[in-house]
Amino acid sequence: MSGARGSGADRSEPDGVRRLGIMGGTFDPIHLGHLVTAEQVRADLDLDEIVFVPAGNPWQKTREVTSAEDRYLMVVLATAPNRCFSVSRMEIDATGPTYTVDTLRQLRAALPDVALFFITGADAILSILTWRDAEECLALATFVAATRPGHDLSALQSTGLVERVQRVDVPALAISSTDVRQRFAAGRPVTYLIPQPVEEYVGKHGLYGTPASDLGVDSRLHGGHERA
Ligand code: NAP
Repeated sequence: MSGARGSGADRSEPDGVRRLGIMGGTFDPIHLGHLVTAEQVRADLDLDEIVFVPAGNPWQKTREVTSAEDRYLMVVLATAPNRCFSVSRMEIDATGPTYTVDTLRQLRAALPDVALFFITGADAILSILTWRDAEECLALATFVAATRPGHDLSALQSTGLVERVQRVDVPALAISSTDVRQRFAAGRPVTYLIPQPVEEYVGKHGLYGTPASDLGVDSRLHGGHERA
């Protein structure tokens, strides 16, 4: 990883400053690659905590995205066992399109004395210059691009972002949400690719083309919210 800091290595900010990782993604669904990424970056960059921020309305996506509430609850189920992980509803509860710059502004305002690290997939970061207020995003947080080893990031050169983005290679990112969705739709196994509670949630609610379980909750009981 370029610019990686293991525990005990130098920090750029004074001692005692908390370091918060912000794990941004659509998480449709969350998989072990995301969890391994978060834990690896936490250790490599000596972060105190990681908050997962599922995207509310990923407006740049052309495919239909699973409801924000379902994606949020799957992230909660997946991250619950790790005491350094938490999940934020800030983008889920926002109305209209969600922009990373708004998320970072809110976090900066709420946590003025905390060092922020925005972690997401390298492919997403490659398009950062198309994001709203990209320069401000890069000023508000250190950006960490997670990618599988050997993945070509040469496009980053032409963006001038090479020095401003930290790269972390994560072998487990060979797992992808697209593949997991396709596996569900085809009835192929997903065991060991996603946490078991997430697999059970998908089956219970009939997501990704799986037949909804007979034991599923009647949707009239929860009005589309707070179902787990
Ligand atoms: P994406 O284009 O669906 O994902 C690009 C690649 O990155 C995929 O291979 C994806 O794998 C991987 N990835 C996504 N999140 C990851 C994570 N946290 N850790 C490791 N790999 C990850 O990207 P996206 O999920 O829609 O968006 C990523 C983040 O960028 C979100 O926080 C989103 O809000 C932000 N974003 C902001 C703007 C803006 O402000 N204008 C525009 C675009 C994206 P999987 O499919 O397996 O996850």
